[in-house]
Amino acid sequence: MIVLKSASELEKMRKAGRMVAEVLADLRERVRPGITTLELDRLAEEKCIKWKARPAFKGYGGFPFTICASPNDRVVHGFPNRQPLQEGEIISIDFGLIIDGYFGDSAVTIPVGEIDETTRRLLTVTKESLESGIAAAQPGGRLSDISHAVQARVEQDHFSVVREFVGHGIGRQLHEDPQIPNFGPPAQGPKLKAGMTLAIEPMVNVGSPAVKVLEDGWTAVTVDGRRSAHFEHTVAITENGPEILTCLDL
Ligand code: MG
Ligand code: MG
Repeated sequence: MIVLKSASELEKMRKAGRMVAEVLADLRERVRPGITTLELDRLAEEKCIKWKARPAFKGYGGFPFTICASPNDRVVHGFPNRQPLQEGEIISIDFGLIIDGYFGDSAVTIPVGEIDETTRRLLTVTKESLESGIAAAQPGGRLSDISHAVQARVEQDHFSVVREFVGHGIGRQLHEDPQIPNFGPPAQGPKLKAGMTLAIEPMVNVGSPAVKVLEDGWTAVTVDGRRSAHFEHTVAITENGPEILTCLDL
């Protein structure tokens, strides 16, 4: 069942979304060669404590950290660790929190120093595929319009979308109905309505779309060892179209 949010609920989700965006903006500024993802994790958790918000992922299904930190060939759900980031790498950071009973969830892939041309293109295309998906989140449309828009943008540049992980509804729960695949034909699935709040999150691989989960039970990696990127926003569908909740300039 897809839960529609009232105007007052949307106001709470804007607050959660802004906080998530502020943390990710802060982490982005700190990413450079030498910093560790465990340091980034601690910074995110400290912000939550200061704001009396609760990290969304820590403890979720037993996930042990505040952020997911997935470098290079890691797709999603990587554990932060003490390994310093190096020039030329990329790091995907996924972060969510709950405040006043509502969740925000967002992810970004950040270059560490200078990155090569293919990786730069991967980041651009993944980000643009998220923008295409958001642009398709229109009242009166269908859910798979979002999926199709993401996939079309990715495949235009001959990258591939991950099939095993999908976007999701969000609100009082981190994961609500509906699931939002990043692939498929348009004009299918539930009708999109004002009041829906969706976490749209393309995961895009340079090479094959195939992924596997490591022995820690969480970390998803590309099977071919090539790089992967992940961008995510929490979005509300309004009468006037999509509104990104996890951005700072609201
Ligand atoms: Mg997320
Ligand atoms: Mg999500």
